Amino acid sequence: MNHAFDIVIVGAGPAGLAAACAAAESGQRVAVLDDTPWLGGQIWRGEQSRPQLSQAQRWIERFRRSGATLLDRTSAIACPQPGVLLAEHPDEPREIHWQRLILATGAREMFLPFPGWTLPGIVGPGGLQALVKNGWPVDGKRIVVAGSGLLLLAVADGLKKHGAKIVSVSEQAPWSRVLGFGPALLSHPGKMLQGAGIKLRLLGVPYRCGVWPVKAEGDEQVRRVTLTDGRNTWTEDCDLFACGFNLVPNVELPLALGCALSDGFVRVNEWQAASVENVYCAGEPTGIGGVDCALVEGRIAGCAAGDRHAPAKALFAKRACWHRFRAALARAFALRPELKSLAADDTLICRCEDVTLGRMKQFNGWRDAKLQSRCGMGPCQGRVCGAAAKFILGRGMESVRPPVFPARVSSLITSGTSASNPNPNQTTT
Ligand SMILES: Cc1cc2nc3c(=O)[nH]c(=O)nc-3n(C[C@H](O)[C@H](O)[C@H](O)COP(=O)(O)OP(=O)(O)OC[C@H]3O[C@@H](n4cnc5c(N)ncnc54)[C@H](O)[C@@H]3O)c2cc1C
Repeated sequence: MNHAFDIVIVGAGPAGLAAACAAAESGQRVAVLDDTPWLGGQIWRGEQSRPQLSQAQRWIERFRRSGATLLDRTSAIACPQPGVLLAEHPDEPREIHWQRLILATGAREMFLPFPGWTLPGIVGPGGLQALVKNGWPVDGKRIVVAGSGLLLLAVADGLKKHGAKIVSVSEQAPWSRVLGFGPALLSHPGKMLQGAGIKLRLLGVPYRCGVWPVKAEGDEQVRRVTLTDGRNTWTEDCDLFACGFNLVPNVELPLALGCALSDGFVRVNEWQAASVENVYCAGEPTGIGGVDCALVEGRIAGCAAGDRHAPAKALFAKRACWHRFRAALARAFALRPELKSLAADDTLICRCEDVTLGRMKQFNGWRDAKLQSRCGMGPCQGRVCGAAAKFILGRGMESVRPPVFPARVSSLITSGTSASNPNPNQTTT
């Protein structure tokens, strides 16, 4: 099925919704596509059914009134030619034609391998939160939370509300850096209040900084986790272990379009325009800055794509403020070098294709390792092991090959359009 719009937005998270509302005000035909059946991305998953007038609710209502078209359960998998996205929908493949494109594809959790990390019951904190929001029961379950980032506390709070017993929350960043993040909160009283509320609700739950996991053990599922502060090592019993080390931007689609990256994030100018003509990017793919940063970037991208430069410019100061917050986040929760040696040579690094760290070390680069060991060629397409290998070995995914998500063959041969890479300079391995 073919669809044509003036402005197409990929991703219906906060950045995509804000971009759609702003773009629709220009009177152009706007569409948002998202691979999930809900609006709001990761943070607002499940919020549309809640009655209260939350920030999520307000944006979702605003989007519904904007006149923009929602193409849900629609996953952008390739860019077969300039101005065209190839997308998968459960019913049929879709060809979506655009004049201007805004990429708001968000981020995913970063996992670092350590002995035992593939045991059942070990999940990303955000992933566990999503399961629980969808009704998975954790009542009475003992959960250890560890890794890095503000998400750990937010998730621990949510799990506790659902009746879980939070054994401890361990942040790998040292106290000195975490406390250094305090001044960044001063200019955002709302965030400070939110943080204070979470800390209050987690009273009695140990929150430790400068602590990270070194091993998980169990049988048919995880039973205990070994943690260290670099001097002492101890073990905590648990039923579930929620572990994730910050977020990794979803840059596969921008890369497939030929967008340039800078330090792993999509490079954009002041209008949120990427290096490819008529392509814009907003939210986590340009930097991990949280929901308010994503919203303001989305609004600027939507205004700019609709040629409304004055309202976009009026948001620059607000964006600069959230970019300072984003920089403070990156400094405070930077990963410590000790985490590079968590995995032993026999620890799986690519869990889809059973490739150990020792095997991966035998190759000179990611491409070489991929060709000879199949690392990064399983269902996750290197989304997990690519980021881990980059951190541990300094080499990870160098390029993407369409489709950016595993897709049905029938989608790839749809309507005579080849899903080949439109960017001739990019290696496709
Ligand atoms: C698992 C997880 C849980 C999180 N939980 C919280 C939380 O509880 N509290 C908090 O403050 N922050 C949370 N965050 C961080 C939060 O998501 C961000 O701060 C912010 O919401 C980012 O907004 P965004 O619009 O940039 O991206 P997102 O909200 O991630 O939205 C991106 C959307 O794009 C869609 N998408 C991506 N690629 C494609 C494609 N090719 N085709 C179609 N659709 C696509 C995704 O499905 C998603 O719906 C979480 C992050 C993750 C990864």
